[in-house]
Amino acid sequence: MRDNEFTKILGWPGYRVYRHEIDETAKTLRLWVRRKRGNRKLICSGCGRKFTDAHDYNEREVRDLPWGEYRTTVVIEVYRVCCPQCGIKVEKVPQLPSKAPFSKRFEDAVGLACESASVRQVARQFRLAASTVRAIDLRYLQRWSATRRKDRLEQMGVDEIYFGKQMKFITVVSNLETGEPLWFGQATE
Ligand SMILES: [Zn+2]
Repeated sequence: MRDNEFTKILGWPGYRVYRHEIDETAKTLRLWVRRKRGNRKLICSGCGRKFTDAHDYNEREVRDLPWGEYRTTVVIEVYRVCCPQCGIKVEKVPQLPSKAPFSKRFEDAVGLACESASVRQVARQFRLAASTVRAIDLRYLQRWSATRRKDRLEQMGVDEIYFGKQMKFITVVSNLETGEPLWFGQATE
């Protein structure tokens, strides 16, 4: 398989594979990627300002989704920009959501698995430490809630539900468009 075929299967927009290494005994695949020619829009991770010139670059290594039985590591060239506001700052790369050694879609897969299985089960499935799974899941949930908050709440409904003599009324705030409850609270007297 040629490097451009690896590029197609990897599917990281704007990046191409320029070197690969397959270890059949260890069942590992290592891919070295860099920006495609023409992809020179660098974004400061501090303030979002755009640059075309890089200050320097470093290699970062992240675990990505497996390819069949092969555990996959991507070695990626990450640039730093000289930002007038933030100083020397690393560029923003969509596939690298944090400083942890995992790609975004790997973290998404772990986060998704955590929705329907225990941390221990997910840790076994991905061969990660339980503490690592918890950290990934937390970042996954934070990203999820950050994108949700951007959706403008067009119509909000407030209901009071009678919960019996002890609890009395519970206030429920919900999104009228989706019917999704957003907040519960007990009315204080
Ligand atoms: Zn900046």
